[in-house]
Amino acid sequence: ILLGADFFLPLRQLGAFFHVAMNGLAAVDRLFKVLDRPAAAEAALEPAPAGLALEVDGVDYGYTADVPVLKDIHLKVRPHELVALVGPSGCGKSTLAGLLCGEYEPNRGIIRYGFGAGENRAAVLAKRIGRIDAQPWLFNESVRANLQMADPTVSEAKMWQVLEKVRLADRLRAAEGLDTVICEGGGNFSGGQRQRLAIARLLLKEADLYIFDEATSNVDAASEAVIMEVIKDLCRQATVVMITHRLQLTLEADQVVFMTKGRIEEQGTAEALLAQEGAFAKMYTEQRQLETYGSGRAQTRER
Ligand code: ADP
Ligand code: MG
Repeated sequence: ILLGADFFLPLRQLGAFFHVAMNGLAAVDRLFKVLDRPAAAEAALEPAPAGLALEVDGVDYGYTADVPVLKDIHLKVRPHELVALVGPSGCGKSTLAGLLCGEYEPNRGIIRYGFGAGENRAAVLAKRIGRIDAQPWLFNESVRANLQMADPTVSEAKMWQVLEKVRLADRLRAAEGLDTVICEGGGNFSGGQRQRLAIARLLLKEADLYIFDEATSNVDAASEAVIMEVIKDLCRQATVVMITHRLQLTLEADQVVFMTKGRIEEQGTAEALLAQEGAFAKMYTEQRQLETYGSGRAQTRER
């Protein structure tokens, strides 16, 4: 229903390099087959769906021994969940993202991943996690070359598929297609279009956990809407952690994690946190007021 047989064909041709991602996607395919059946008695024997489960248990972290940055972080993320990680600048969101990717090791506590059969931590970190930030790096090269950074053997059909997802296909067809060159400094592409191209490249990784770190902070409203659509769609096949300063976007999330000064201060659905009228609700209300009085995003976007 979601991923047809032809979706898997190009992937199969990539061979063993992508076996982990393929297993994940095949599992989704099987899951949906189960869901398609009216009463599947054998459902209990089916493998768990793709989408990486995650558990952060009592994690402390500091870049240097004398300055603690993250303190006693506890977090449980189920497969296919969309988690919004929010909080004031400098509270430790990107640091936590780095820990989830294995870029840094906790000083205390542990981060657990939902391994598949025969998998280990190193394989998960290398193959199943994809991250993007607000300033993704693009070559001064063709769209094709930029997408091939993710996988040199990727087919053109697959490239167009991800370009459609981020709504760049028409823009590129009107230019030189996959041969369109991204100019130095991105002059011929807006900030939002560059970010969408970087997201298309990220999608080629076929990860099971995606981390978007302020991925919509330098983009126009139209690009933000496209990116949110991609994120919501991704949750069908993966788990997504979305770091954002736009608190309105947290309404889309299954779980909101509000951090201050290296600690998780509030955690729950956006509705629950708003009803609680705590720090998250206060920041949310202040942001809405700023937008209403016109100093908000309309003028500050699209650099
Ligand atoms: P956020 O993403 O929530 O804005 P960060 O995780 O980037 O916050 O930063 C948390 C704290 O860690 C800040 O005080 C920041 O100055 C510090 N920090 C971030 N990166 C480094 C680094 N590479 N080395 C030392 N300190 C850092
Ligand atoms: Mg950050």
